[in-house]
Amino acid sequence: MAKSIVTKTSFTAEFFDKIKEILLKNKTKFEKELKNQEGDGPFPDYGDSEEDNAREIADYEANLSIENDLLRSLRDVNSALKRIEKGDYGICRYCKKAIEERRLLARPTSSACVACKKTIIQEA
Ligand SMILES: [Zn+2]
Repeated sequence: MAKSIVTKTSFTAEFFDKIKEILLKNKTKFEKELKNQEGDGPFPDYGDSEEDNAREIADYEANLSIENDLLRSLRDVNSALKRIEKGDYGICRYCKKAIEERRLLARPTSSACVACKKTIIQEA
């Protein structure tokens, strides 16, 4: 029998195992990609012409935004893992109802249900 996780939702232990597996896989992937980003150095150096300089800045900014995206993704993954431990995982942080399993499987870091997400996007 699979070990049960204390939770406020009705998700099965198998479901949590699956989600955790996806999250941990993503965590490893993001951490590896972040390390690769850092390995590239903070600022590229292609040459001294104006064109080179423009390309350096463009690539630098692209790298920065990739790095920021990775950091944000990593933070989302970690907070989802924490929510699993606390038993809060899969609960919408706005309406406190359970998030659809299908949505969580497609996007395991979700912390809001589809209805609330739609409301937020409309309000923003
Ligand atoms: Zn909601």
